Amino acid sequence: RPRVRFAPSPTGFLHVGGARTALFNWLYAKKFDGDFLLRIEDTDRARSTDESTRAIFEGLEWLGLTWDEEVVYQGANVERHYADAHRLLDSGAAYRDFTPPSETERLRNEAEARGESYRFDRDTAMLSEAEIADKLARHEPYAIRFKVPDGYTEWPDLVHERIAFPNKDIEDFIILRSDGTPVYNMAVVSDDIAMGITLVMRGDDHISNTPKQILLYRALGADVPQFGHVPMIHGADGKKLSKRHGATAVGDYQHLGFLPQAMLNFLALLGWSPGDDIEVMQLPELIERFNVHGLHAKAAIFDTKKLEWMNGQHLALIPIAELAQVVAPLFEKAGLATVADLESRPEWFHGVLELLRVRARLTDEIVQLATTFFGETVEYEAEAIGKQWRDAAVTGEILQATYDRLATLESWEPAAMEEALRKLAEEKGISGGKIFQPLRVALTGKTVSPGIFEVLLYVGREHSLARVAAAVS
Ligand code: GLU
Repeated sequence: RPRVRFAPSPTGFLHVGGARTALFNWLYAKKFDGDFLLRIEDTDRARSTDESTRAIFEGLEWLGLTWDEEVVYQGANVERHYADAHRLLDSGAAYRDFTPPSETERLRNEAEARGESYRFDRDTAMLSEAEIADKLARHEPYAIRFKVPDGYTEWPDLVHERIAFPNKDIEDFIILRSDGTPVYNMAVVSDDIAMGITLVMRGDDHISNTPKQILLYRALGADVPQFGHVPMIHGADGKKLSKRHGATAVGDYQHLGFLPQAMLNFLALLGWSPGDDIEVMQLPELIERFNVHGLHAKAAIFDTKKLEWMNGQHLALIPIAELAQVVAPLFEKAGLATVADLESRPEWFHGVLELLRVRARLTDEIVQLATTFFGETVEYEAEAIGKQWRDAAVTGEILQATYDRLATLESWEPAAMEEALRKLAEEKGISGGKIFQPLRVALTGKTVSPGIFEVLLYVGREHSLARVAAAVS
């Protein structure tokens, strides 16, 4: 049973890149009936905050990327990380390094000043049993360094195929600092083993950590998991995605009027493709189609326009009751109607949403467009009060006649209204458009709107008549 994890450091909001990594792991777990675990990598006490941890939870929950089992906090496992480092010391895979950090630093600087690259010198650092016993007796501090073996470290990366590093390029790295704190790679490997992780999927900025981690797995006698390094996300200019390109926090998109479904669909296509031209996919389809062969090695481009388009597609797709739940609070915030009011007339509300959702890309645009359906009066757009409108007594006369017909109608159903107004046009010997267009402006203040009879229906009898009457006078 596969076990994957998302392991964010709680040092900021949930970045879209992080959410995308989480999504790939989540899809993998769902697809192969595995577990998706969440580990908060909070060992950097100075930079980690509870607020950030909360933002990560909220972002994942909004997207629906729920995790299995309890959240693992890396900081709670420091004792195990410490014990694992000592196991490596005991088995001879690591050694004590009593060199003061300042001395190592000095040697590094000197080498660099000579234009050479510094390599930690194991032969000088490894002491005899007697020397070690002596220093231990005097309580001299030491770091624990991993003894990198000869040879190559390679792995079949799910995204990049084979990646190989010659071990001679990896210096004996510290696994436990002289103050007793484990280093990042030690903590990650110790936790991944304890959590039974079978596949590590993460950003390709971690590729250089992977050979060290593989060496640690082996030395600890653990099975090495599979690795897949997914590409970075770039802005349209090809540079690493940053605030310069716009919002980079998942929470920002939530507040900008995007649907989680659209965000997920969009994120899934950042660095992955299903192998055909289909782009708009709902979650079950994403799970079904997800496979690691579709992951790209090249950087993915974050295209905000495409995200907006994707949102429009999902606005048109989601169950209307679900859309109503998402946008009702936005209507209330805009002062159009309270949530309770909207919920008390679902037929009307859903009808309005059906009408508008195909015309909007963002939920906020739906709210914007919906203002037409509220209130007794409308504001006229400058261009709407142009030529044929108001210029003519004709319009006034036609509008008055329209008013009279509508006012005497028994039914406020689109079919009945259409029949009555077409008959009026016939009697007057004019085209339907000559009636509908002034009516449209009178009702909406605009020259473009959804179908006029649906507008009449959803503005409602009372307000429609009031608006026409106001336009005539
Ligand atoms: N905490 C690391 C990060 O946020 C992830 C490490 C990993 O996935 O192994 O980049």
